[in-house]
Amino acid sequence: MNKQVPLATGQAYIDEAIKIIAGAQSIVITAHQNPDGDALGSALGLWHVVKAINKNCVCLMPDAFPHFLAWMPGTDQIKIFDTEKEKATGLLKQAGLIFCLDYNAPERTGQAMGEVLKTAPAYKIMIDHHPHPADFCDLTINEPADCSTAQLIYRFIVTLGYQNLITANAATCLYTGIMTDTGSFRYPSTTALTHHITAKLIEAGANNGQVHINVYDTNSESKLRLTGYALTQKLTVLRQHATAYFVLTAKELADFNYQKGDTEGLVNYGLSIEGVKLAAIFMETEGLIKISFRSKGDVPVNEFMSNNFSGGGHKNAAGGRSNKSLDVTIHHFLSLIPAFMDQYK
Ligand code: 5GP
Ligand code: MN
Repeated sequence: MNKQVPLATGQAYIDEAIKIIAGAQSIVITAHQNPDGDALGSALGLWHVVKAINKNCVCLMPDAFPHFLAWMPGTDQIKIFDTEKEKATGLLKQAGLIFCLDYNAPERTGQAMGEVLKTAPAYKIMIDHHPHPADFCDLTINEPADCSTAQLIYRFIVTLGYQNLITANAATCLYTGIMTDTGSFRYPSTTALTHHITAKLIEAGANNGQVHINVYDTNSESKLRLTGYALTQKLTVLRQHATAYFVLTAKELADFNYQKGDTEGLVNYGLSIEGVKLAAIFMETEGLIKISFRSKGDVPVNEFMSNNFSGGGHKNAAGGRSNKSLDVTIHHFLSLIPAFMDQYK
């Protein structure tokens, strides 16, 4: 059932996708839980294009998106599974076509939405850049070499022949996805193709300067103060293991009026220290410990995460969680670090 197709060579399947899109009465576009700039940018970018071909199309996210992305064109039309479970379940069950964007397994949309997704009868198309896709879609376009799913969506739209439907709003969403997933065009996943596509998006009307301001210059005062507190009080550097990590308790987050997204980017400060190859953040939030890892070079934090904590992601950026206490989780992490990091000296 699962046809895994390299976008560049899968023309027969692309023809099938065109037919399915044309024939579908209703289309639902989904992305992963805790949607980031790429999840939202990919989903809304595609949504604007599909709407332009007069399709009944809904953008459905598993849960809320952060404030720093709320300005994106189309967010006011987004449905949230967690807040409208019944309606969202109905949408998924009745859809003729479901797009699964920026995730590679149904569980990445959360337990409840994942279950509905698995059993929904719709034709499903995955477009994603996380490695090791699960076999749950009819058409799987999975390209780990692409910097972002938004870049893949652009390539998908062009391959379908719909590039003229990329309005300024669609371009703005796709630009945001590429910009956020490349750390503003600095990670090694950023290629000449990325800049080429970005140029096309600016030509199509994406206001690149404004997107940077909207995403990076809209901090709340409490977010900035939480960052300052974390940097001065909550950062531990293990020089001998090229590791830096932050720990934030539920009380500390509450003291700084923590809102979803407020720690976005914090882990990168740890990684910016000269000589540090792995940075981590452990946060007590939503009744569990949320973990983010980032790395430089060869250090595969997705393997480290999936082997030891529940989660995964890319070689240099992974997320996960622990159901143990904060202390037990940190203790476990510290017991693993020496042997793990010794491999990458
Ligand atoms: P973050 O640390 O920003 O939450 O996530 C970093 C990367 O890991 C993102 O690409 C994200 O999609 C991926 N990721 C986050 N959480 C999980 C998870 O629980 N499982 C898997 N497979 N990937 C995750
Ligand atoms: Mn992504």
